[in-house]
Amino acid sequence: MLLTSEITHDLWERCGQAIVDQHETIGERKLNPATRPEELRSILGQFNFESGRSPEEVVEFAIRGLRDFGVPTTHPRYYGLFNPSSGTMGWLADALVAGFNPQLAAWTHAPFANEVERHLIRAFGQKFGLEKADGTFCSGGAEANQTAVLCALVAKFPTYASHGTRSLNGNPRLYVSEQAHHSFIKAARFAGLGSDAVREVPVDSSFRLDAEALSRMIAADREKGDLPFMVVGTAGTTSGGLIDPLPAFNEIAKREELWFHTDAAWGGAAAMIPSLDGTLEGMERSDSITFDAHKFLSVPMGAGMFLTSHPDILGEACRITTDYMPRDGRSLDVDDPYSHSMQWSRRFIGLKLFMSLAHLGWDGYADVLAHQVEMGNELKRKLSAAGWEVVNDTPLPIACFRRSSSDSPDELMATVDRVVQSGEAWISFTRLRSDTPVIRACITHYGTQDSDLDALIQSLG
Ligand SMILES: *Cc1c(COP(=O)(O)O)cnc(C)c1O
Repeated sequence: MLLTSEITHDLWERCGQAIVDQHETIGERKLNPATRPEELRSILGQFNFESGRSPEEVVEFAIRGLRDFGVPTTHPRYYGLFNPSSGTMGWLADALVAGFNPQLAAWTHAPFANEVERHLIRAFGQKFGLEKADGTFCSGGAEANQTAVLCALVAKFPTYASHGTRSLNGNPRLYVSEQAHHSFIKAARFAGLGSDAVREVPVDSSFRLDAEALSRMIAADREKGDLPFMVVGTAGTTSGGLIDPLPAFNEIAKREELWFHTDAAWGGAAAMIPSLDGTLEGMERSDSITFDAHKFLSVPMGAGMFLTSHPDILGEACRITTDYMPRDGRSLDVDDPYSHSMQWSRRFIGLKLFMSLAHLGWDGYADVLAHQVEMGNELKRKLSAAGWEVVNDTPLPIACFRRSSSDSPDELMATVDRVVQSGEAWISFTRLRSDTPVIRACITHYGTQDSDLDALIQSLG
């Protein structure tokens, strides 16, 4: 398995060079055209694995595949979903982790990794205003939201952990905005609640969840004998970057004795940008928070975080005892991740965030993020000047726009397709409400510049 140090060194250098090239030269290239599955399947057909190949050939094949097929999210004109280009510290960290391969399941097997992650959970908890935050790193926002649903169920229904939902005398209900991330539908299915348990509250004319409508829906559900247990506020919706009225939600959740979760997968980074101070007001009173370092913070996937102000809840939801796991941590003041999160064997997720933050510091990170916010503002200005109507009102760098309120979804999709086909930029279509189709462009790359914005405006025509 292990190659000689000389060969390894050469391959390492080749991989490093390929990654640097991908980052340094991609801006001069067009974004890749769409790939047909048959094309890749035929290329892969040459691998029947009957005999091995040289490591150089295998490495070149992998580099070519990664470079030439797929939407290059490392491109400064990728105005897409929250898939940033990764920074050097981030990908170096992931390579180091793969090489050393620490096992995080038990604290005593990987004390350094476990304490680095604990340190970060505390530091981000503090940034978000949670006192003494507990939490765990996870694969991404979907797992963090799943963890939140499980913690809320365990906290609100004492018999859930041992007897499941059948021990309850009603149907558990959780409340999200119709603009919330759809991972909550999966979370409800996986938790045995069924997707009906997710109650989608309509958004108001500014596309934010309507607090009054939320109150009314909870009251009506209680009237029917349902069991409300959780309210989710989104801080930075996926489509429009909108921020739900977190303080109002919080009040409703407290009054109704419901778990209050803030899904800040992307928008949570606003807490690191001084000019956006106050944007996330109310998040500090959350029972739990989802944050993805692999989104706005530009570390490689997957780097989700689940944070909570309830230090015992992850243990109540996840603790089990086994004979085969190491026991030497039991006398220490530590949590074993296998008993404190959904995963068991787990890679060291936090190092890429640790190295990125240790290198930049909060101030350096704030500069990177503030640049993206500024590019977002500039994009909105340029779109308006070019006759587009920007319809989402958010300080975060996403523009949702159309020519006029009479634009049909088909017309907007045709514009999106034309831009994407041209290879000049990657943008997408979405809806802010079922009656509001828009084109969406998000600043996801820390290196996007004014000239990249001009190229987008031009390609929109
Ligand atoms: C991206 C996103 C998620 C899902 O996170 P993954 O990391 O893709 O699993 C959840 N909520 C919001 C608001 C998101 O933007």
